[in-house]
Amino acid sequence: MISLKRNTKGELVEAKGRRVRKKSIYEPYQTEEFRLSRGKFEDFLSCARCFYLDRVCGLAAPGTPGWALNSLTDDLLKKEFDICRDQAIPHRLFEKFDLEDIVPFKHANIDRWRDSLRHGLEFRIQGSGILLTGGIDDLWFNQKSDEVIVLDYKSQASPYPVRTRPYLDGTYHQSYKRQLEFYAFLLTKMEFKVAPVGYFYVCNADKHASGFYGQMNFEETIVPYRLDITWIPSKIIEMLSVLNGKKPPESNQACENCAYSRERSLMESE
Ligand code: SF4
Repeated sequence: MISLKRNTKGELVEAKGRRVRKKSIYEPYQTEEFRLSRGKFEDFLSCARCFYLDRVCGLAAPGTPGWALNSLTDDLLKKEFDICRDQAIPHRLFEKFDLEDIVPFKHANIDRWRDSLRHGLEFRIQGSGILLTGGIDDLWFNQKSDEVIVLDYKSQASPYPVRTRPYLDGTYHQSYKRQLEFYAFLLTKMEFKVAPVGYFYVCNADKHASGFYGQMNFEETIVPYRLDITWIPSKIIEMLSVLNGKKPPESNQACENCAYSRERSLMESE
């Protein structure tokens, strides 16, 4: 994809390929606070080399455009759930999915936790400057068990109806499961009692509609997922050792970007 750098007015500016904000670059063994989001942790899991080049060397990867329609479904769902939160009532879909004991979680920090850029859920790794963060869509609460429930809104356009097993087994949904687990991990560290099952609130656009006619219809499904956070601490230790290492780790052989730049360098040097 060709990505052109623009300023806030939309004007083209020189792309330097380097981060300029000192706060975005990690100094090995720094003790000053350094924020690492769930997305960056996921980057580490995908390719430790790119993660190192980004966070330690300050290399700025090309940006990606926002997902305006997906963001809109998120925003509208947030409004809907906020109404239920204010009234302390279950959401309209909860009965259908046997979630009658559940209501949106009421907490003074809910907006702060939803602010992924400045706050999110936060947990400082002891003995380091790393502050792990995760901006959530929402949290629910089980009134019977007093447990906080992690979830994420997902929008898609699949010709097939959403079913739990195939949804959870999908190749591209593995990172979704890690996402919920990361939130559950952060909340546990923040000393909340977290439910063992999280949920995906999936909005699947109807691809079989006869036309657009100014609207799109979605089928809504709540997919339960049994969480496993046991794998996270060892991965955090690995991530710290990469961050504090002297050179970048190996690249991911499956990465098309690396293959592209390798072949391109070869071609241009011929
Ligand atoms: S393989 Fe290369 S381009 Fe791909 S993610 Fe890793 S370092 Fe980045």
